[in-house]
Amino acid sequence: MPADIQADVQQTVEARPDIVRTISLPHKSVLGRDVPALEISHHVRDNDGRPVFLLMGGIHANEWPGVEVATEFAMDLAEQDGRDPRITALLDRVRVIILPVVNPDGYEVSRGGRIPDKRKNCDPTCGTAVDPDTGSDSAGVDLNRNFGVNWGGVGSGGDKADGDYRGPKPFSEPETQNIRDLVTGRQVTVLVGLHTYGDMNLRPPGQNASPLTPDEAVYAELGDQMAQANGYPSKLSRDLYETSGTAEEWSYHTTGGLGFETELAGETNHGPFTTSVLDQYHGEREALLRDAEAAGNPRYHSRITGTAHGTLELSKPGLHSTMTADGPFTWDVNPSIRPGTDGRNIQESWTLTCSGRTVPVTVGRGETTTVSC
Ligand SMILES: [Zn+2]
Repeated sequence: MPADIQADVQQTVEARPDIVRTISLPHKSVLGRDVPALEISHHVRDNDGRPVFLLMGGIHANEWPGVEVATEFAMDLAEQDGRDPRITALLDRVRVIILPVVNPDGYEVSRGGRIPDKRKNCDPTCGTAVDPDTGSDSAGVDLNRNFGVNWGGVGSGGDKADGDYRGPKPFSEPETQNIRDLVTGRQVTVLVGLHTYGDMNLRPPGQNASPLTPDEAVYAELGDQMAQANGYPSKLSRDLYETSGTAEEWSYHTTGGLGFETELAGETNHGPFTTSVLDQYHGEREALLRDAEAAGNPRYHSRITGTAHGTLELSKPGLHSTMTADGPFTWDVNPSIRPGTDGRNIQESWTLTCSGRTVPVTVGRGETTTVSC
């Protein structure tokens, strides 16, 4: 992992090993680097059914402020736990998982100065030249066009040299496979990807032809709360420009967890540290705290309660997560009813396995259902 991020991650873990742990993501980057991930929570090693807030930076290599803000937020939570009552309460309710730099190969190339505006990953090479017309890097896949919902649609390039090249197939890249495996194996109720630049809080859909999501009211409410905090307008993603195959849209339509993309403020992808990170950290910190609190607010997801002992499993095709119960339990989960890309909800059920029994569980956003195991 990049040395500067490595140092900050290590310092955060060493300072608070009781509430911070590193997570090993299953796939190394194309060039064989570990992709760093931190989990921050009280009882961090338990598997106790609390919901997850996932924050990602550096999916685009040259967007350094997102990497800095994600790293700073991790250090901030670890430092303020036990001091700031709001953060202490948050870490009781929510597991915060932070991937400061999803694309470490590209980040090294960009931050190291070889290709400062390198955006994509290093598959099959990191590239050597920059397109003088578009400023985009010649090689690699745009990881935020490589996800498996609406993959190949408008706003994603089919040519390898395109700055937004989507890759040969959905999830062709180890860096996006990491996100897929993480999100399909946990109950990530809110996800935020940090980008530069554009000063916007963006929610799906990313295409002009797509209908509004079935959760537009909830999405707009949370987006507006972020806007009040960081000062960037709350918008549909397509209002910036059209995109397809993004992390946010994939996670939303696959799991029902609410995915956002925040474009931090600035004049370039990585401006001076003072203006592009320090000056906006205060407002963005508040926005991220609101996002993390929303991840823990059962109004925005679903709950399964009951009494059981041992491991519980919850699955749907492509999704599988577990928790360990010892008596009465509450499992904060995404709704079983899944938002379709056609603007309608799909009436699906979870399959819950508890105490050797398998029961279907149908639950909508904001609802709690009690099962007998
Ligand atoms: Zn970006």
